Amino acid sequence: MVFRELNLNASLLNALDDMGYEHPTTIQHKAFPVIMSGRDVCGIAQTGTGKTLAYLLPGLRMWQFSKDRFPQMLILVPTRELVVQVCEEIKKLTTYMSVVTVGVYGGVNMRPQQLEVENGCDVVVATPGRLLDLVLHGSLRLKAIKRLVIDEVDEMFNLGFRTQINNVLDLLPARRQNLLFSATITAEVETLMHTHFNNPAWVEAAPVGTPLENIDQRLYQVPNFHTKVNLLTLLLTEDESMTKVMVFAATKKLADELQDILEARLPDQSGVVHSNKAQNQRFNTVKKFRDGEYRLMIATDLVARGIDIAEVTHVINFDIPDEKESYIHRIGRTGRADRRGISIAFASPREADELAAIQELMKYEIPVQPLPEHLEISEVLTDDEMPKVHMRETLIAMPKIVDSGGAFHEKLEKNKKVNKKVSHKEKMREKYGKPKTRGKKRK
Ligand code: AMP
Repeated sequence: MVFRELNLNASLLNALDDMGYEHPTTIQHKAFPVIMSGRDVCGIAQTGTGKTLAYLLPGLRMWQFSKDRFPQMLILVPTRELVVQVCEEIKKLTTYMSVVTVGVYGGVNMRPQQLEVENGCDVVVATPGRLLDLVLHGSLRLKAIKRLVIDEVDEMFNLGFRTQINNVLDLLPARRQNLLFSATITAEVETLMHTHFNNPAWVEAAPVGTPLENIDQRLYQVPNFHTKVNLLTLLLTEDESMTKVMVFAATKKLADELQDILEARLPDQSGVVHSNKAQNQRFNTVKKFRDGEYRLMIATDLVARGIDIAEVTHVINFDIPDEKESYIHRIGRTGRADRRGISIAFASPREADELAAIQELMKYEIPVQPLPEHLEISEVLTDDEMPKVHMRETLIAMPKIVDSGGAFHEKLEKNKKVNKKVSHKEKMREKYGKPKTRGKKRK
């Protein structure tokens, strides 16, 4: 199957040629005719399947020039990084069209975005909160929206965008086409569809849980954090094919710690992105990694979802994620769009249960690699790895509060009362003089 077999126009085909894409991916050729028919569509696809082009190609194929430049297509995505990425993809696809695209997201000054949308645009790519702000300020009108795309819906819900999504949906014209893309279809996603969608068609890329076939998965059993760091350093030093490596760490703290150590051992090769980093810093790190300036990018799950970086050679699961689906999302960062990739997981004995759950989900046992002979096994444990010592509770006498002569007033009379528990028996004795019995006991 080649793109020329889809009902695309010359502008889009030329742009695809420039991008070097010849064959549509599964989700792209499955979704194209259904979206073109005007139906609502629910696409089950994770990043790496080509889902962005799956909605952009038919969306742009159906785009019609209009003079007033109220946006016709609205694309909601969960993160600022995705806004930037989807905009870039649209810009490339519309090289031979006069489509104006604006991307808006929160966390930065709204004024420049207001000016941009007020100037008129055809496609808006937005995070939900900022979109609502722009509508409320009167900068953006949604009356001409013909097509709505909600991308990575599951992630939107994870990030707590529920209310904002509903609010946006209420603002849109009733007659429109709805397209939804999600890696997993949860009960919440289904509710959203039943409430707002009109008998959607389902299109599936690769069901979640199936190991992506073009990913070579490997596993190392490693005792602790510091040995994991040693192993990563060793692999990076010895394996020159590791040119674009994404490392996933469970928490921001661990990601930072890892970065500090790597910076000392392999200076200027890595950057770290997580939600505590300033937006500019995040963009810069991603850019440096994308451009090949950094060999390594350390990331937490939330930020990394949806960032598309071509040709990631290796994904390292520095730890085993608690949520089994995260593993699939993580490894999906390599081996994208029909390229082969390598995924390496480091599992400590404490992570055995999570690992088992992931293997069960994939119905696949990740081949275990022997630890390299010259790997330095560290005995040093992190705070989290220290065995918990249960100490007996010791009561410590509180220091006496010395009257500092500060503001003081007598308690009110009613507040002086001390609660005294009076049992039912005592109450009865006070009332009746003696315990009340229920008649004489029978002998
Ligand atoms: P996505 O799943 O939309 O995040 O896309 C994953 C990556 O695959 C992106 O870098 C796309 O540019 C790339 N891609 C999308 N469609 C194709 C295609 N038909 N052929 C080759 N690469 C593609």
